[in-house]
Amino acid sequence: MSLNIPNLERNKFLAPFTTYKIGGPADLFVEVHTIDELTHAVFEARREKIPFFLLGCGANILVTDKGFRGLIIRNLANKVTILDDNKILAESGAIITDLIEQSKNLGLSGFEHFADIPSTVGGAMWQNLHFLSPDRKRTVFIEEIVQTSRILTEEGQFLAVGVDYFQYGYDTSILQVRKDIVLEVTFQLRPKPKEEIFGVIDANIAWRRAKQPLLAEFPSCGSVFKKIEGIGAGRLIDQAGLKGKRIGGAEVSPKHANFIVNMGNAKAADVLELIKYVQEEVKRKSGHALETEITVIGEL
Ligand SMILES: Cc1cc2nc3c(=O)[nH]c(=O)nc-3n(C[C@H](O)[C@H](O)[C@H](O)COP(=O)(O)OP(=O)(O)OC[C@H]3O[C@@H](n4cnc5c(N)ncnc54)[C@H](O)[C@@H]3O)c2cc1C
Repeated sequence: MSLNIPNLERNKFLAPFTTYKIGGPADLFVEVHTIDELTHAVFEARREKIPFFLLGCGANILVTDKGFRGLIIRNLANKVTILDDNKILAESGAIITDLIEQSKNLGLSGFEHFADIPSTVGGAMWQNLHFLSPDRKRTVFIEEIVQTSRILTEEGQFLAVGVDYFQYGYDTSILQVRKDIVLEVTFQLRPKPKEEIFGVIDANIAWRRAKQPLLAEFPSCGSVFKKIEGIGAGRLIDQAGLKGKRIGGAEVSPKHANFIVNMGNAKAADVLELIKYVQEEVKRKSGHALETEITVIGEL
């Protein structure tokens, strides 16, 4: 195996690169800072047939304790360009919080709905990042502001695609089916008075602080289980009396039952065992089957 990738590291612990602060080492690890570096690393891994995983903020994944056998590409390509006609072009490693900051100062609306959610543009595109609208009556999705995107396809072609390409649904996209890589995205925003945008950001942050465990204190990867329409996974877990249930260092958050938090020394095995326990108890008590929305990566 001869991967021709500059600054390749070996045996790199992944925990610090995830919001869970959990996970063993990757055999191979590289941080890419430009789209050229990103595509080069992907081509190299594909050429050598080495399994690889593209990592954003690591906010929707659980890395196993044994770690990942293959190459982790951590995407730090984060250039942002302000275009005409209220558009913003962002590389896929750009952080949504930074895009909120830049666009709000220009009086451009669209990103503010995703305040306080850890995500790169690439991660947001993969899962159709979403949050409640300001009146809390509907869900706002990132797809609503995506205009076009440049991708590297599974087959190795560079393509410019429109939003329809991604076949978005709730927490789903074509990127979960095909191994395409998002390189950059053009977002179409709308002018709005800055005070209104600031108001939405403040309200969303306050909503999260009130309802969800603080990430800095309780590392997590957000909601663990998929939404069950009209019922709510968190409510089922709460009704099963599982808030505060603990296995090892992992705990069902007493603040939000769909969050399993790392109390400081959790192993991935603790989280996985607790997930299984919650699924079994909810099934036993309510008959509902909870499905996980997070991705587990690495050797089990
Ligand atoms: C406290 C907390 C609150 C959260 N709240 C919400 C919420 O309200 N709404 C919500 O939707 N999510 C929420 N999440 C989940 C998480 O923030 C999102 O899923 C986010 O989009 C993940 O982005 P990421 O950059 O961390 O992706 P990662 O977790 O690093 O990766 C996720 C997936 O995206 C893929 N990917 C990353 N970059 C690319 C790319 N360039 N091209 C193709 N695939 C790519 C990865 O390979 C992986 O499969 C929350 C998480 C936390 C920790």
